[in-house]
Amino acid sequence: MQKMIYILEDEADILELLSLQLSNAGFRTRGFMRAEAMLYSLNQEIPDLIVLDLMLPDLDGLEVCKRLKETPALERIPVVMLTARINIEDRIKGLDYGADDYITKPFDSKELLARINAVLRRSGWETEKNVLLITPEFKLDFNRFEVFMKNKRLDLTLTEFKILQLLTKRPGWVYSRSQILDHLWGTDKIVIERSVDVHVKNLRDKIAPYDKMVVNVRGVGYKFDPDWERNVPPADA
Ligand code: CA
Repeated sequence: MQKMIYILEDEADILELLSLQLSNAGFRTRGFMRAEAMLYSLNQEIPDLIVLDLMLPDLDGLEVCKRLKETPALERIPVVMLTARINIEDRIKGLDYGADDYITKPFDSKELLARINAVLRRSGWETEKNVLLITPEFKLDFNRFEVFMKNKRLDLTLTEFKILQLLTKRPGWVYSRSQILDHLWGTDKIVIERSVDVHVKNLRDKIAPYDKMVVNVRGVGYKFDPDWERNVPPADA
């Protein structure tokens, strides 16, 4: 099945160029010039990725991103921001709002494709099944609140599942203990900040040998790093 990419860009020539390049690369695409039209189309089909322009006539691209990331059914769609702005603060803001990457206009088509493919690979997200494939043998099923390793269902508590769900939402992003608590709010157990560490430890024990993907960032909190093997600094000889 070809992956579907939604492109939201109000400049017709750029939209056309993007659609052409992406369909040449084997993607299905749908182009939109207005944010409301794209948001409406999300009721019909959930794309595998959204390319999002920042400056739009009806809604700010950042606002669109925020809405997506605040909607549980849409929050996992990877978003690549397209921006002419050279201001680094805008890029950081975009990433803060939950964008997965950004491309600066004018863009090189090779770079565009490389970034889109990297984001798709990283997200491991199968929209139709509501499943996150972290590695071929390690997957999260969000419909059933289940985690599988080598086709065996792991016995995770709801709290452990929710921690993993939050951390995998944005790989590489560090969540503080209080943010993790906010996410757990609503489960029947009352959790104090220090017990987040206990839950994380139990979670890690259960997901071994992938436990190193859940990284403790000293003094801050936790993050999920599916590429931990590549990110480990070389050991001192
Ligand atoms: Ca624009």
